[in-house]
Amino acid sequence: MCAGVIVPELVPELQELFDEVVDRNRGEAEFHQAAHEVFESLGRVVAKHPHYLDTEVIRRLCEPERQIIFRVPWTDDAGQVHINRGFRVEFNSALGPFKGGLRFHPSVYLGIVKFLGFEQIFKNALTGLPIGGAKGGSDFDPKGRSDGEVMRFCQSFMTELYRHIGEYTDVPAGDIGVGGREIGYLFGQYKRITNRYESGVLTGKGLHWGGSRVRTEATGYGVVFFVREMLAARGESFEGRRVVVSGSGNVAVYAIEKVQELGGIVVACSDSSGYVFDEAGIDLTLLKEIKEERRGRIADYAAARAGTATLVTGGRIWDVPADIALPCATQNELEAQDARRLIANGCQIVAEGANMPTTPEAIKLLNAGGVAFAPGKAANAGGVATSALEMQQNASRDSWSFEHTEQRLADIMRDIHDRCLHTADEYGVPGDYVAGANIAGFTHVADAMLALGVI
Ligand code: GLU
Repeated sequence: MCAGVIVPELVPELQELFDEVVDRNRGEAEFHQAAHEVFESLGRVVAKHPHYLDTEVIRRLCEPERQIIFRVPWTDDAGQVHINRGFRVEFNSALGPFKGGLRFHPSVYLGIVKFLGFEQIFKNALTGLPIGGAKGGSDFDPKGRSDGEVMRFCQSFMTELYRHIGEYTDVPAGDIGVGGREIGYLFGQYKRITNRYESGVLTGKGLHWGGSRVRTEATGYGVVFFVREMLAARGESFEGRRVVVSGSGNVAVYAIEKVQELGGIVVACSDSSGYVFDEAGIDLTLLKEIKEERRGRIADYAAARAGTATLVTGGRIWDVPADIALPCATQNELEAQDARRLIANGCQIVAEGANMPTTPEAIKLLNAGGVAFAPGKAANAGGVATSALEMQQNASRDSWSFEHTEQRLADIMRDIHDRCLHTADEYGVPGDYVAGANIAGFTHVADAMLALGVI
């Protein structure tokens, strides 16, 4: 764990297991953080059901079923050869084929892929759909690369990955740096190498070649559907609420869209260069054009909306007063000082659109400050849930309407919300979405593992 972080105590058996995780996975700080967060919730479970300890199912869960690391050589437009590292960590397949995204970002190393893969196990279990947990990616940086360079990188990446994946084995999708364009190049290379039009091998495909409606919007919409349920549980709605959304990638853009549709006002969003504050509410058409078509920066948005928007570089987006905060950018982007500021400004709800964007210390402060907090493995499960709906459509060679698919997504998010609250009640921690999500996800996957024997 990082120095200075307040680490809640674990029961001795779980502390021993956690120490073992740290020892066996040295230097993988993000994986340690993700494991610790789950272990904090499991004390109540093993007190009630000691067989989860006796059967070593927790120890087994912490060890991926398979980890693949490979070389990805590619040539840039100037003819220069580059070498990146590719990863696929196939964590758990008790509930279905391994399932989870690919992240292309310079920060990617084994510890990031493992934290994401570990979280994915519980997230996917929470959806109630038949999908196991995995994650992959590369330290390749797509920023500033031409279309041809991105294509050659994706083709080289798939030239190794293809032998490890398949409709019944492992089904990758997108994550940071991997969107529709990259999935297209990856699918094209898979089809070419295997000579199979195996639609169900990847999700996040284009609508004309096996993709599902609503998949592009699903993670962002899903977070907002989840928050709608949190608000409804308090007899409230999005109407007139001020919302801050960090990020301006796929998750953030569609979270903003759905908040606006439900009557909320999104006053700020960001990218790695800073944030824009727009009191009149973010102009989504402009943001989409800049981010999705031009692949531009948030500074271009501020320049185009000079009348109402201000660009703030070097500040914290969490300083902007809001009723609801949706961290939708990346891990550990909302820290203790940000949590204090959100509480001081009267924020009532924080829901994670990104994976693990809130540090453990910030979560603790938000809880103590009476802010309702929804962890990513519950709140952002809409993306992977809709991927599972894409797999269903591929398996039946069918294609559903937007309305039907969106309704399925809304129902799934409501079910996840209710399951978290119900489980939190059952284990004596009412209103604790973190405990509810961890316990409900864990028991679902652990029971399946026990039924399958010691494998
Ligand atoms: N990368 C997304 C996530 O973190 C989606 C994964 C998928 O669709 O398989 O859940």
